[in-house]
Amino acid sequence: ALALDAVTHRFGTVTAVDDVTVTVGAGEIVCLCGPSGCGKSTLLRIAAGLETLQLGEVRVGGRMVAGEAGAVPPERRGVGLVFQDYALFPHLSVLDNVRFGLSALPADEQRRRALDALRQVGMGDHADRFPHHLSGGQQQRVALARALAPNPAVLLLDEPFSGLDARLREQVRDETLHVLKRTGAATMLVTHDPEEAMFLADRIVLMRDGRVEQVGCPVDLYTRPATAYAAAFFGEVN
Ligand code: ATP
Ligand code: MG
Repeated sequence: ALALDAVTHRFGTVTAVDDVTVTVGAGEIVCLCGPSGCGKSTLLRIAAGLETLQLGEVRVGGRMVAGEAGAVPPERRGVGLVFQDYALFPHLSVLDNVRFGLSALPADEQRRRALDALRQVGMGDHADRFPHHLSGGQQQRVALARALAPNPAVLLLDEPFSGLDARLREQVRDETLHVLKRTGAATMLVTHDPEEAMFLADRIVLMRDGRVEQVGCPVDLYTRPATAYAAAFFGEVN
């Protein structure tokens, strides 16, 4: 499980994240959503350890990974990361991209785990190809496999589908949901798209100017928005 407790983060005079508390249980998908600039990516980066924690606490599986006592570096937090631009290594094959996060294991074990992760996302037949020979959707799947291969307790995804065109986006979104549901990881996914949040989330955290505006399951936010802001945000979804 992932727990962010009373996290506040400032960039100069801008309070990007303002006293946010969010927990994500094992097997749960929580979508962080809200309009551009509301602090979604900053909060995700703090959870990942890519942004130094200023105030509050972060726990992964009950272990404190950032707080007053200091911080565990990103690669030792047991979190898998997927970003909008996939960031695959162009000079490495698909298999070697996925093996990258498994370097602590013996070579045959790396290969076995990487192939297993690629099969999970339906890319088992593409292990020897290179990223520039793959479609955007296939690259996204490889990025997901790379994040899943070490069996992280927590998965963090920032706008993972926004680089895809509309048709492909729906397809990859469906497949990803299927994969995420099987992994049992605590998943926090950032999206500015209310429809995407409705589709993917067990719970939605709606943010506004760095604060949490409302938390609830999708149907609650849609049918019982607590504020005009929440109503406006989810009102566009059909
Ligand atoms: P988007 O949907 O556009 O990705 P977001 O919700 O992810 O937006 P953040 O990127 O978390 O928003 O930004 C929150 C606030 O913090 C914004 O006002 C942004 O300008 C500011 N901010 C983010 N990163 C930095 C930075 N490195 N330096 C200064 N200000 C920043
Ligand atoms: Mg962002």
